[in-house]
Amino acid sequence: MTRTLTHDYVVVGAGTAGCVVAARLTEDGARTVLLVEAGAPDSSPRITTPHTWPALHGTDVDWAFRTVRQRATGHVHDIPRGRTVGGTGSTNAMAFLRGDPGDFDTWARQGCTGWDYASVLPYFRRSETAPHGDARYRGGSGPLRPAPSASLHPLSRTYLEAAQEAGHPLTEDLNGPKLRGASSHDLLIADGRRQSTATAYLEPALGRPGLDLLPRALVQRLTFDGDRCTGLDAVVDGEPVHCAAGTEVVLCAGAIGSPHLLLRSGVGPAEEIERSGVKALHDLPGVGRNLQDHIILAGLTTPSRGPLPPPSGNLGEVTLLLDSEPGRASVDLQIVFIHVPFTNPWQRAPEYGYTFGVGHMRPASRGRLTLASADPEAPPLLDFRYLDQAQDLRALVAGVRHALEIGRTAPFDAWRGAEHPLVGADDRAVETFVRDAVQSYGHAAGSCRMGVDALSVVDPHLRVHGLTGLRVADASIMPEIVSTNTNAATVMIGEKAADLLRGRDRAES
Ligand SMILES: Cc1cc2nc3c(=O)[nH]c(=O)nc-3n(C[C@H](O)[C@H](O)[C@H](O)COP(=O)(O)OP(=O)(O)OC[C@H]3O[C@@H](n4cnc5c(N)ncnc54)[C@H](O)[C@@H]3O)c2cc1C
Repeated sequence: MTRTLTHDYVVVGAGTAGCVVAARLTEDGARTVLLVEAGAPDSSPRITTPHTWPALHGTDVDWAFRTVRQRATGHVHDIPRGRTVGGTGSTNAMAFLRGDPGDFDTWARQGCTGWDYASVLPYFRRSETAPHGDARYRGGSGPLRPAPSASLHPLSRTYLEAAQEAGHPLTEDLNGPKLRGASSHDLLIADGRRQSTATAYLEPALGRPGLDLLPRALVQRLTFDGDRCTGLDAVVDGEPVHCAAGTEVVLCAGAIGSPHLLLRSGVGPAEEIERSGVKALHDLPGVGRNLQDHIILAGLTTPSRGPLPPPSGNLGEVTLLLDSEPGRASVDLQIVFIHVPFTNPWQRAPEYGYTFGVGHMRPASRGRLTLASADPEAPPLLDFRYLDQAQDLRALVAGVRHALEIGRTAPFDAWRGAEHPLVGADDRAVETFVRDAVQSYGHAAGSCRMGVDALSVVDPHLRVHGLTGLRVADASIMPEIVSTNTNAATVMIGEKAADLLRGRDRAES
């Protein structure tokens, strides 16, 4: 027999955004919320110890998705996603960067009223306590406590010196008004442990009478009465459960989970859905389109003279944001310094070394997520179309050249065991390297795009077009991926979603 749970709101996914939405909706005691999560709570050292995050991939806390073979790289790429309370915020690398102020102004110019930088800044500030920054931009009393590393790894200090020697400015706070330069940037590490929205928002809220967490619950499909979403069906420890929503269902299942659940429920491009054996309920052609990710290059690892000081922090506590060509209005490259070797499985890794992780932050390539099958256990087909657009390849080639230049400066002389083989290589050789070095930066976004045109999925109030009682609030709604790592912007989306759900839209009040 199917058990039924009834709440005002049912939130799908206790990840970065879902924990924020559930905690904010229940803070005044005016409504009941059920937070449904496929994974289990986990506060063991494997999650909380900052430098062990790479070991989480491929374990029970990872959905371990894979792309279809990518035309431009020839490879199938791993797409890790957190499957635990805290979601990918419990398994990620803990960098805390908001994006460029201009990113949000671009969203607003595309019709997303209320999402320009001035309108979203209060939500960024509300999410954090960051006394080290300028109070005009940084928060003073929010749940998260982002801060730069208190004791930088010796090689991280070398990188900051080397970047300056190569002509890049030092920037105090990349979450201030200016996203450019080298910096020891904010991390979500507090008292030596990972912080996530699970630890900072959800845990303190769990005792509230209006908030229930349903872990180990795989949501199968949404349920509808006409065009109104009434709840969802899930399986918990092998038992069917119906979760009824008196007011609304909010999808916070992430840039892969949310479009996948919509498609499985019959919401998406009708013809395509029916080909997979799912009855189409609502033709919404944009679901799963506009899939975006950042690329980070693996394998720009320089052999060191011998063993290096032990890893610390999140392994990548300093970064550089820069332009691939002069005169750009906003940065499009990030070179994160990783004080250990970092390679793809098919690349050769030196035993000891350090890596320049070149990331492309303004990809022109757009991909697509489609249904592989009606089976809720079957992963969707993920085609990010990495390097589909020639300009993405060009930017990464420029990024490699910048990284090699920094690696050859005097501050690295004491550490460098040998030159990287690409030093002195021509553009063709660097392009070949780039194609082979592509790795997902883990920043999937955009697959339930917010907007007002026919291919958008949600409106600027995050309501799914053409349906009632259903919103999406996670990284999937970004019309264009932000110019940095995506977690902080997803926290902001959760904060703003909670206000929209409570009818408190600051931007329009
Ligand atoms: C390896 C890696 C490193 C990263 N490092 C950084 C970093 O250092 N800084 C940064 O800013 N960003 C980083 N990111 C990206 C960032 O963590 C994500 O953008 C962000 O967490 C996305 O939040 P979300 O709420 O959209 O989704 P998620 O946090 O992924 O939450 C979605 C939740 O929904 C659940 N769910 C999905 N489907 C279902 C279903 N059918 N039933 C029930 N539950 C379901 C999932 O289990 C998950 O808990 C990284 C990502 C990866 C993969």
